[in-house]
Amino acid sequence: MTSIIKCSARTQRTAGPDSGQAIGSVVVSAKEQPQQIKATMPFSNTHNQMKMKFSPEQEFPDLSKHNNHMAKVLTPDMYKHLRDKQTPSGFTVDDVIQTGVDNPGHPFIMTVGCVAGDEETYDVFKELLDPVIEDRHGGYKPTDKHKTDLNPGHLKGGDDLDPNYVLSSRVRTGRSIRGFCLPPHCSRGERRAIEKLSIDALSSLGGDLKGKYYALKNMTEKEQQQLIDDHFLFDKPVSPLLLASGMARDWPDARGIWHNDNKTFLVWVNEEDHLRVISMQKGGNMKEVFTRFCTGLTKIEALFKQKGHEFMWNEHLGYILTCPSNLGTGLRGGVHVKLPNLSKHEKFGEILKRLRLQKRGTGGVDTAAVGGVFDISNADRLGFSEVELVQMVVDGVKLLVEMEKRLEKGQSINDIMPSQK
Ligand code: ADP
Ligand code: MG
Repeated sequence: MTSIIKCSARTQRTAGPDSGQAIGSVVVSAKEQPQQIKATMPFSNTHNQMKMKFSPEQEFPDLSKHNNHMAKVLTPDMYKHLRDKQTPSGFTVDDVIQTGVDNPGHPFIMTVGCVAGDEETYDVFKELLDPVIEDRHGGYKPTDKHKTDLNPGHLKGGDDLDPNYVLSSRVRTGRSIRGFCLPPHCSRGERRAIEKLSIDALSSLGGDLKGKYYALKNMTEKEQQQLIDDHFLFDKPVSPLLLASGMARDWPDARGIWHNDNKTFLVWVNEEDHLRVISMQKGGNMKEVFTRFCTGLTKIEALFKQKGHEFMWNEHLGYILTCPSNLGTGLRGGVHVKLPNLSKHEKFGEILKRLRLQKRGTGGVDTAAVGGVFDISNADRLGFSEVELVQMVVDGVKLLVEMEKRLEKGQSINDIMPSQK
């Protein structure tokens, strides 16, 4: 089933979920009414045991037109082996792959094509997920160990990105609370419990992190849209990739945003992950943004621990999140940056690849860039520490801005082409 929502397009959406990946062609507006979203939300995770009456061949999905990591890895034999397994909460391999079955892919970006429903998903279905993770995360092996470094003192520079080009800086990650199912699979009660726990924990933050929780269902349509347009709030769940994963069920129940007064430290509750923790501000001081991110995140983790709740984490996968593309640090550090000349250069894609950076439009992952302004962020999440990833962004963006300035003056950039990082 497809879900192409036809509305007057505010932004041209070309790619998909937040999972950092892509979906098929979608042109949607961020201005749909909530009832329209509900009406066009055909997906849920409804797999049942009747499937065992059919042979694995009869149940195997048609992946013939697919181009995502899941479809590359899943074979009929593997499906046969995995299809009667489930995690303790009842997540099956069909639930894992549904989003990748319903969304064959994108002509330019390789999608992941699967999600986790709980922490155990990554273990019970490792036969499928290990190779997906290896493929998505540059050869990350099942024996590899992930490293965490949330000490902003280890970041070199980063406080001087040219604000004439760098309009805003942002760092985000996700966190999942151990013992609860993840958004594609959690029940309404679990989701509401997560919301409550989050409000309780976050209300203890003080100083410049002190803030308030705003539930989606208590906001007017206008307030919600303003927060989206100002880049503070997640978009409405309009992308088929998000819908097909099951994470938009019961929308907007138990979803919301917590933020401090000046909206430089924000926490999304129950979007694609239990928590998304974000630090952002205008201009190019990534060092300040990252410092606030580390301080706030460390405090939040301690507050949850105090209340008896740990975040999902292990040595191999780092922090466990809904989409395999976000495992590890879950960190996406990025800037909105003006690159009207460089983005037209034939080597732009190659330069980003060499710097291990990715580009998005400034309206979020589903949007195309407008007027030469891009969201440039780290492409990796796993196998590098938080500091290493932000360092890549800081160093890479500096070089991109230098290149942009040269091209502006009609000069060559050949002598400053980066080598592969
Ligand atoms: P995420 O990976 O955090 O889910 P999305 O691409 O879905 O990011 O975007 C979510 C919102 O965050 C969008 O409104 C987007 O414009 C905003 N955003 C992302 N990066 C920046 C940035 N550097 N500055 C300002 N806003 C940003
Ligand atoms: Mg997103």
